[in-house]
Amino acid sequence: MKRFETRAVHAGEQRWANRNGESGESFCPMSTPIHPSTTFAHENIEQTDRVLGGEEPGYSYARYGNPTVTAFEEAISALEGGGRAFAFASGMSAMHAALMAAEIGNGATVLAAEQLYGSTATLLVQIFGASGAETRFVDACDLEAVERKVEELRPRAVVIETISNPLLRVTDVPRVAEIARAAGSTLIVDATFGTPYLQRPLELGADVVVHSATKYLSGHGDLTAGLVVANAPYDAALDQIRKLVGGVMGPFEAWLALRGLKTLPLRMGRQCENAREVSSRLAAHPKVGQVYYPGAKDHPDNEIARRVLAGAGGLVSFELAVDDPERGRETAFRFLNALKMCTRAPSLGDIYTLAIHPATASHRELSPSRRERLGVKENLIRVSLGIEHPDDVIEDIEQALEKV
Ligand code: PLP
Repeated sequence: MKRFETRAVHAGEQRWANRNGESGESFCPMSTPIHPSTTFAHENIEQTDRVLGGEEPGYSYARYGNPTVTAFEEAISALEGGGRAFAFASGMSAMHAALMAAEIGNGATVLAAEQLYGSTATLLVQIFGASGAETRFVDACDLEAVERKVEELRPRAVVIETISNPLLRVTDVPRVAEIARAAGSTLIVDATFGTPYLQRPLELGADVVVHSATKYLSGHGDLTAGLVVANAPYDAALDQIRKLVGGVMGPFEAWLALRGLKTLPLRMGRQCENAREVSSRLAAHPKVGQVYYPGAKDHPDNEIARRVLAGAGGLVSFELAVDDPERGRETAFRFLNALKMCTRAPSLGDIYTLAIHPATASHRELSPSRRERLGVKENLIRVSLGIEHPDDVIEDIEQALEKV
C-alpha cells in the first residue's frame, strides 16, 4: 500500500478516459468531475434493472449514490486504512446514522464521554432519549470509571472522542476499545479533532468512526459534511439508513472536500507545528495562566497522546491571567476583540487561525455549574491553528494580550 501522503493525493480519483463524441478524441480529466445529476440513465432498461438490483455496479438515483461522492468516500476509506466510508450532509447527520447503525433505540443504553461535543450529547439525550434510549455519561479519561460503568450498564454503545473540546483531553482509544469489546458494546469514536493523519481508530479496536468533514478533512471552512467509516455488520445498516433518512452529501461539497483532502498531511503537519510553537510561547507569557496542549509535559494526557496519536493536534486552549475571577469573561472578550489576524469564529481545522470563547460558544447551552465541573472557565480561550506562519500568529496573539 502507498504511504499516507500519497494516498491523500491519489485515492478515490476517477480518472476515467472520456471520448469527445464529434472529434472522437479521448481525454482524461485529472480532477474527478462533479456529477450534479439527480438520475443516471443506462444503455437499456435491463441494465437499469441490474443496477437497481445491485447485480451490476453503477448509479441510478442521487440519494442512493453519486460518483463524485463515491470518490471522496474511497479516498477517506484509503486514509482510514480500511472500512467502508459513508458521506453525509453534516457531522451531526453522520453521528445520527452511526447511532442508528449501532441500534440505539428503545431499551438501549449508551455510555457517553462527558467531554462529548455538546450537540452529540443533546442528540443522544433528546432525540434518542425520546425514542426510549438512555444515555449515561462518564469521564472518558478515567479508565477505571469507564470500566466500572461498562460492567454495570453493559451498554449497547460507548461513544467517545479522540481529543475533547476545549481542554483537549486525549482518550485512550485502544484501552476503551478493549473494555467495550469485553462487554459486547459497539465503540463509536468521533475522530474529528484527530483525523486519520493523527489516529485511525478502526486500527485501534473501534467499531465505528465518525468525522465532521466540515473541519480538518476538507480544511478550508467552505463546506459542511460528515462521514461514518465502518466494517461489517455496520456497513449494510449505514447504507440502508442513508438511503432512507437521506442526509446525503452533495456532489459539489464532495468535490471541494476531495480537493481539500489532498493537502490534509501538509495542513495538519503545519497546524500541529503551529500549535506546538504557540503553546510554548503562551506558557511563558505573564498574561497567560494555564495552557492546555496535549503535547506539553504538564498536560494530564501527554503520555496517552504520545502513545495513541501521531502528533499532538492543531489546537491550543489557555486561560488568561486574571486577578478577579468575576472579570474572566470581560478579559476574554477584550482579548478576542483585540485580535487582528486570527479570526473570532467558531469551528476549527481551517487553514485560518480561529479563536473562540468556549463558555459563550461551544459550551453556551450548559449551566454555569456544569461548565465549571468540565473546567470551562470564563477566562478560557480556544485557538484552532491555521497554516499561517507561526510568528505572525504569535505576534497577533501577543499584541492582543498587551491590550488585556
Ligand atoms: N463532532 C465534533 C467533535 C464537532 O466539533 C462537531 C462540530 O463542531 C461535530 C461533530 C458536528 O459537525 P457538523 O457541524 O459538521 O455537523
